[in-house]
Amino acid sequence: MNKMLFNDQIMDRDTLVDIEDRAYQFGDGIYEVIGVYNGKPLMLDEHMERLERSAREIRLTLPESTSELKRKLEELVSVNELEEGIIYMQVSRGIASREHYFPGENVQPVTVAYTREEERMTDVEDRGAKAVLVEDIRWLRCDIKTLNLLPNAMAKQEAVENNAIEAILHRGETVTEASASNVFIVKNGELYTHPANNYILNGITRKKIIQLCDSLNIKVNEETYSVDDLLQADEVFVSATKLDVVPILNVDDHTIADGTPGEVTKRIVEAFRSLYQQDVKN
Ligand SMILES: *Cc1c(COP(=O)(O)O)cnc(C)c1O
Repeated sequence: MNKMLFNDQIMDRDTLVDIEDRAYQFGDGIYEVIGVYNGKPLMLDEHMERLERSAREIRLTLPESTSELKRKLEELVSVNELEEGIIYMQVSRGIASREHYFPGENVQPVTVAYTREEERMTDVEDRGAKAVLVEDIRWLRCDIKTLNLLPNAMAKQEAVENNAIEAILHRGETVTEASASNVFIVKNGELYTHPANNYILNGITRKKIIQLCDSLNIKVNEETYSVDDLLQADEVFVSATKLDVVPILNVDDHTIADGTPGEVTKRIVEAFRSLYQQDVKN
């Protein structure tokens, strides 16, 4: 099944984009990518909360309550008979004659969502992968999950051209996050990750890892660290909805520690797996 959600209607996925949708012309909107496992959207409440926050920060009023939206997304997963994959959803500021300033209140935001079948990347989670370093040239509100992703797309392209899974971004000496995931390093058994401020997108996977580490008795420091700290780390991993937790074994031409997935990372990979498998049972 290949249906999409368009505003409050579930319909065939052949709706045309309006050239004056502000998402199209300005990237003026917000989005979420939500994992689906065993036919159930994962951490949906957290995604809806973040969507609400992103909306607030760009001064966009969501046309529906998040509980209504949640119900629609669950319905979409069900009509598409999606077992394992993702929901992509976005809300744009709406369709209006092209002007940079916001349209009047008569213009309603446009909500679109669709699903995609995708297998979890358990393979690469076990094996690990390579990353490249790219200068973080994004704006100063990286905490908002907006549709403006050109710097992220350019960074990811550089990764792909170098057979890497991710581009790890740094502002000068400071590591921020990756093009579409958060970055953690391990040093002497403790985790370090950039604090959740305007320089990074606070991943839901990131937040879950921090929670998990509490029960695993692993100390997490939400502190900045340098490119050098990253290269000298005992372990490095990235986290995101689409990746879960992926050990990073090489950064550019530099090998991290002995070049195999580290023990702390492996514990987190395992704990995260049982978390979403458990989430489905509840
Ligand atoms: C979405 C995103 C992440 C990861 O967030 P999750 O909620 O864990 O999927 C990290 N960084 C950026 C730039 C993102 O857009």
